[in-house]
Amino acid sequence: MADTVDQQAHREARIRRPAPVWQAGEVVEVIDETPETASLRIRLPQPTQFLPGQYYNIRIPVEGRPRPIQRAYSVGSSPYPTFDVIEVGVKEMEGGLVSPVLVRQRPAGSILEVRGPYGAFTWTDEDGGPVLLVGAGSGVVPLMAMIRYQVSRGTTIPMHLLFSSKSAEYVIYRDELAQLADTYSWLTVTHTFTRDREDPLAQYHRRIDKEMVGDVYLETLPGLAYLCGPPEMVDDCERSLLELGMEPAQIKTEKYD
Ligand SMILES: Cc1cc2nc3c(=O)[nH]c(=O)nc-3n(C[C@H](O)[C@H](O)[C@H](O)COP(=O)(O)OP(=O)(O)OC[C@H]3O[C@@H](n4cnc5c(N)ncnc54)[C@H](O)[C@@H]3O)c2cc1C
Repeated sequence: MADTVDQQAHREARIRRPAPVWQAGEVVEVIDETPETASLRIRLPQPTQFLPGQYYNIRIPVEGRPRPIQRAYSVGSSPYPTFDVIEVGVKEMEGGLVSPVLVRQRPAGSILEVRGPYGAFTWTDEDGGPVLLVGAGSGVVPLMAMIRYQVSRGTTIPMHLLFSSKSAEYVIYRDELAQLADTYSWLTVTHTFTRDREDPLAQYHRRIDKEMVGDVYLETLPGLAYLCGPPEMVDDCERSLLELGMEPAQIKTEKYD
């Protein structure tokens, strides 16, 4: 099928990207995803085409610090068909300098300094599949961008998300993921809950381990794997996939350290 003019512009813009600059984004909406996670939708005055899986830096002034403090946040929204508003998903880290402020103190109407996009942890339909996505906690954010991107592009490359959360209450994008998995046969979502031993929403009730990765690997037979979350989880998963026969070039990782 030939690309529309819109799709062609999208493809070309992916190639020509200017160097990122700090810009004053306006928070246009805050969505409470879980008790500790919020999605902030930020309108950019100078929008730049980005790829699903990339992140932005956000910096805020912190009392007692001479300079603003900067942290990285993955974009959870699809860059297609529009990218003037980005959605970041932020999990509050107790005692953290930046994330509690973003989750609790930046309501709609606030201005936030953002700069991006950055990162090579990216997927588009041109990369192919089947795709195994493995995320823990807020590590699901860039994986969601990949899923939403495929929805918005109308492609049907098989994707399997293995997603670890504390319990159903802490599953980021819970309802949307359930609805997408019901709607699209190319999407499979497997939950594991680490602090709930019974909830049937989860197929597993423990941390992601070698056996679990082996199960989803056999179900998916992935051509590509994307792993995102705490460094230990990402390293363990990568090791398991290599032992199962995947090549290093087939595995992309993003560590939230
Ligand atoms: C590429 C990339 C993408 C990311 N994307 C996301 C995302 O989409 N969503 C998301 O939620 N996060 C994401 N992160 C993580 C994010 O950048 C921050 O690291 C996270 O939000 C914590 O920042 P903070 O300022 O709140 O906490 P920090 O101030 O960095 O503190 C982190 C933790 O360390 C503890 N701590 C700090 N100093 C000390 C000390 N001296 N002694 C003991 N403990 C201490 C704090 O209490 C806190 O629990 C990403 C990270 C990377 C690298």
